Amino acid sequence: PTLMLVCCSLLHSSYVVHYGFHEAKLNFIDPCGKTWVCKDENDPKVMFGDIAVYTGLQSADPCTARGCLWPKSSDGNVYVAYRISNQYSQRERNTIVQGLRSFSRSTCIRFTPRRRQRDFVDIQSRSGCFSFVGRRGNGQVVSLSRRGCVFQSVIQHELLHALGFNHEQTRSDRDQHVRILLQNVIRGQEHNFRRIRNSRNLGTPYDYNSVMHYGRFAFSSNRQPTIVPVPNPNVAIGRANQMSPTDILRVNRLYACSTVLFVLSHKHSYVLVS
Ligand SMILES: [Zn+2]
Repeated sequence: PTLMLVCCSLLHSSYVVHYGFHEAKLNFIDPCGKTWVCKDENDPKVMFGDIAVYTGLQSADPCTARGCLWPKSSDGNVYVAYRISNQYSQRERNTIVQGLRSFSRSTCIRFTPRRRQRDFVDIQSRSGCFSFVGRRGNGQVVSLSRRGCVFQSVIQHELLHALGFNHEQTRSDRDQHVRILLQNVIRGQEHNFRRIRNSRNLGTPYDYNSVMHYGRFAFSSNRQPTIVPVPNPNVAIGRANQMSPTDILRVNRLYACSTVLFVLSHKHSYVLVS
């Protein structure tokens, strides 16, 4: 009952998910033993009517303290096996592989093609972009729909979910950084704006540039914002097109990667010591 996820509502039965112009019923069990579904509308091509919904978030879920982390190898790396569905074109497949490899450039996460590993991420083109939060055991679907999800930021976002991260604006301290305007949220979607009281923020600051931060109009019913930064309402949020330095730092902290990292962003170079 304490598990509350932004894009992932805690559920006891099947749940109607809206993505694009479709609805589907999904019913999953999470690694913490609860039933919920995590779905995202992650690209402007995945919209409700003409309302683009971008999901992003980023703090570690409490389940990461209870065993939904991926195990660490004796060499210090965290190997996460993956399988990519043959639904994708070669080009889409390359984009996905690039997204997987981006983690090895800046973290100790190593996505590797599945051989006989029991637990793995099973990348498929289903309806929409969605993932479980954390390792759930056996094959776990990461959906990257060919229609709107095969982009670097979305791939990283969904994989960060699979590694154990939630949306940034679910953080325990989010009310100091954003105001949630529930009156503008599509009725029935309010759970997407829950706060996780005991999120593991890993000593990192709230990050508007996190690839896990929702956009200003996420789940808006009326073209009015649903998330407004405070105190400065004009700060851009939810616009990341790749993992931010803070996103990377959190992965390194959550998985205790012992690397000194040189991270290049488009504006600055950062040296991160995790
Ligand atoms: Zn998400």
